[in-house]
Amino acid sequence: MSGRIPREFIDDIIARSDIVELIDSRVRLKKAGRNHQACCPFHEEKSPSFTVSQDKQFYHCFGCGAHGNVISFLMEFDRLEFPEAIEELARYHSIEVPREKRWGSSSIG
Ligand SMILES: [Zn+2]
Repeated sequence: MSGRIPREFIDDIIARSDIVELIDSRVRLKKAGRNHQACCPFHEEKSPSFTVSQDKQFYHCFGCGAHGNVISFLMEFDRLEFPEAIEELARYHSIEVPREKRWGSSSIG
């Protein structure tokens, strides 16, 4: 296993990402006023109660209570672990995920 992903990189990649664009690449969103809506991908429904806020960069479902940011969406929707979600986001931006070197460890990788 490689080292930890630096905190600043995580903050930076979240800041670079547009949650509307990312979710729209997986679930077709419809613009509704200032927000975007879709039928929730996390529960069965016929009328859309899944809302994505571009301003706040989070999603919220009034039906099942699913809520989070771009990383939680990837974790829930793609069923990824946190570091995998970061990797996925990095791939999306075509950048490489840096890893912190682990000090005091005799063997790395
Ligand atoms: Zn839902």
